Amino acid sequence: MSYSKTVTVERRSIANRDGEMTPLDVDIEVAAALPVFGTYTYHLPEDLRPRAAVGHRVLIPFGNRRVTGYILGPAPLPKPATIKSVLDLLDDKPLFSEELIPFFRWIADYYLYPLGEVIRSALPSGLNLYEYNVLALNDEGCPLPDTSLLGPLERDILECLRKGACRLKDLQSHLDRPIPGALLHAMVKCGWVMRRKSLRGGRTRPKKAKLVRRTACCPDGVRITPRREAILALLADHEEIPLKTLREKIPGAAAIVRTMAQRGMVDLVEKTVYRDPFGEPILPDQPPELTNEQQAALEVIATARRQGFTAVLLDGVTGSGKTEIYLRAAAETIARGRGVLVLVPEIALISQTERRFRARFGEQVAVLHSGLSTGERLDQWQRIGNREAPIVIGARSAIFAPLAPIGLIVVDEEHDGAYKQETGLRYNARDLATVRARMNACPVILGSATPSVQSYFNHQRGKFSRIRLNRRVQDKALPEVEVLDLRTIQNERGVRKYLSAELLAAIGETLARGEQSLIFLNRRGYASYPICSACGTTLKCRHCSITLTYHQRANAYRCHYCGYSRSARASCPQCQSDKIWHYGLGTEKLEAFLQDYFPSARVARLDRDTTRRKNGLLAVLRKLRRGEIDILIGTQMVAKGHDFPNITLVGVVCADSTLNFPDFRSGERTFQLMAQVAGRAGRGDRPGRVILQTYTPDHFIITAARRQNFARFYADEIKFRQELVYPPFCRMIQLLVTGRDAARTAQTARALGEAAQTRLNRMPPEGGRPTLLGPVEAAMHRVAGRYRWQILLRGPSAAGLNRFVRGLLYDDGPNYNRQGVKVFVDVDPLFMM
Ligand code: ADP
Ligand code: ZN
Ligand code: ZN
Repeated sequence: MSYSKTVTVERRSIANRDGEMTPLDVDIEVAAALPVFGTYTYHLPEDLRPRAAVGHRVLIPFGNRRVTGYILGPAPLPKPATIKSVLDLLDDKPLFSEELIPFFRWIADYYLYPLGEVIRSALPSGLNLYEYNVLALNDEGCPLPDTSLLGPLERDILECLRKGACRLKDLQSHLDRPIPGALLHAMVKCGWVMRRKSLRGGRTRPKKAKLVRRTACCPDGVRITPRREAILALLADHEEIPLKTLREKIPGAAAIVRTMAQRGMVDLVEKTVYRDPFGEPILPDQPPELTNEQQAALEVIATARRQGFTAVLLDGVTGSGKTEIYLRAAAETIARGRGVLVLVPEIALISQTERRFRARFGEQVAVLHSGLSTGERLDQWQRIGNREAPIVIGARSAIFAPLAPIGLIVVDEEHDGAYKQETGLRYNARDLATVRARMNACPVILGSATPSVQSYFNHQRGKFSRIRLNRRVQDKALPEVEVLDLRTIQNERGVRKYLSAELLAAIGETLARGEQSLIFLNRRGYASYPICSACGTTLKCRHCSITLTYHQRANAYRCHYCGYSRSARASCPQCQSDKIWHYGLGTEKLEAFLQDYFPSARVARLDRDTTRRKNGLLAVLRKLRRGEIDILIGTQMVAKGHDFPNITLVGVVCADSTLNFPDFRSGERTFQLMAQVAGRAGRGDRPGRVILQTYTPDHFIITAARRQNFARFYADEIKFRQELVYPPFCRMIQLLVTGRDAARTAQTARALGEAAQTRLNRMPPEGGRPTLLGPVEAAMHRVAGRYRWQILLRGPSAAGLNRFVRGLLYDDGPNYNRQGVKVFVDVDPLFMM
């Protein structure tokens, strides 16, 4: 190795701001997309050097496999004695910029997750390569046989492979007949054909769309049929229309357009397009005049910007104009040539925020959410990387968007649990927003009508500054919240046990006024508690420790945790009786009841069952907006961020359903949910009314929610957290031990618990020694066939806990991930069921 440190530093490569690349050093640091800690040094062959840069994927030999890796930069010193070579370069352009590397390293370190896997999780899916077997002509110089001596099938196979290697499956479908294994084997043995591994995936082609364009003038003498006329009429308003849109509007449009194009009536063109995630046209909007509160808020944000990194908690009641503040702050930021990253919970994104940003900023917006196909997401990703879209709006994974330089990060509804990723890399996008803002020396705005206890605490400790919006825009009143005691009707029969006369009357009045009602029930399906009438057995999932839910439309029992489903025609597993009672109220049963009770009303339902189909959610929301729904029943999907002016009544069927979860955050979550649902009422010109039914009207959460009184809720909640030393008064890491074998899982959990205890005993008692809880069986002790045990570590500092867990799991001692048992590390866990 003749490269000294100075040489390495000078030749340090950067894909610079304009995307130009300087050549990389001969040896590079690579993160492998594998569950391994540490990074590796590889040699970059000369022919790849001119094209390679930080952020490219490479194919590297790893053990006896070939895997994907990511170029991080020049190799750190000292270099290892033997260095393998990179096999290939997989991208034409970098997938992430150098700016992101410290961010990725931070994440790997904090969440105790392998760096290559962090990068893999951060990049849009569909980029990773996989290996598969192909057949090819033997290229090792073995002479091919005289074809006249071969059978027809052998001849066809060789003929086909002459055009290129392919899979057996493709070969068979190409030749349209099965190929006997023995024949193939013989051909391989003769040295004519060989089996080879090939790589696949990793490149998604940009999509071409067909567009129909108006011609300058319509030629004479062509017949204008009604459908041709309809097409021309649509084209009169637009220069060009995607053929797809035409096909949706006019049946058979594709064929009609083709003949029209032949006759010169329209032009048919193909264009590379970024796949547009938006269904409907969005008209540009005019920024309104700011209220005094909004004005003041923007001044605080401007000050924050001058200071570099600042976290600002924007705490404003629902409808107080927070989104308008984001829009203005975004406009200022892009005017200064910097990018804006806006995170929103998935569901609000689809209906609202995205629309409003689009209306204000048009093509400058890129959107990332799970509703996009792999290709669409990749397009958006590339637009961002190419600096075609300085504003990025997305759900939690957008925190990794390749936007640079960032001048502002917004986290809307910062309290929302949807920011926490609960599988794989278990990160919290809200927390990462703060980290990324600090790295970019820019402000981060955390907005909410119901701030998380954590963020409010950070404000109180002086870590976050705070902007408070006290009033709704145009002084629309906050809705009145009436609390009704469900205990007074608990002896009623069936659904009437859950629907007070007052709530039913209120729905009736709203209906009579031609306004809309929103009824919130946090449980989908028909009945959540199926029980055998003969022997009293409750019907449970075969794979989880949870009762099944009866779904009437599907006529099946379903598990909401693992998706297990069994026909409702089946009988009791215990006594074979076929009479099953369906207790418990779900949205499906409620919908049926209300439709029955208000026969003329247009009743609809919004939950995961009705939105499973693509665009299902959009369809319901569109109907709601157009006034085609009178009563909407929904789960927490309806609580989030929507703005529907004609909803004047909100009913909460049972506020307690989330309150009794065995999780210290259940109170916080319930308060937020209640305040958010209530905030859906009265957003238009008429005042709203909220009816909240509960079995515990005196619970402090309920009384606080009733007044939408955050201060009151916080004061009580923070006392309780402090007494029991829960976050924000401590930090937590949860180790989740899971496995299909009950005994082995329990054994591993105990062994890990003992090892942790031994380590703790060796530490001095003072100086922030973590405390250990467990191992215990999780509240959901079996999910999808896997048994679950929890070990909870608490300590005063994140760094101390991190060090402790790193030592426990990785430094020495046994590997706990064996025999089908897995240990997951959840740093700052949010759901602990
Ligand atoms: P939030 O995000 O706090 O719930 P929004 O930004 O959605 O509030 O504002 C609520 C409604 O008020 C929206 O319909 C928005 O268009 C409107 N609005 C916001 N700011 C103003 C303003 N300064 N003048 C008039 N209308 C406004
Ligand atoms: Zn039975
Ligand atoms: Zn299940």
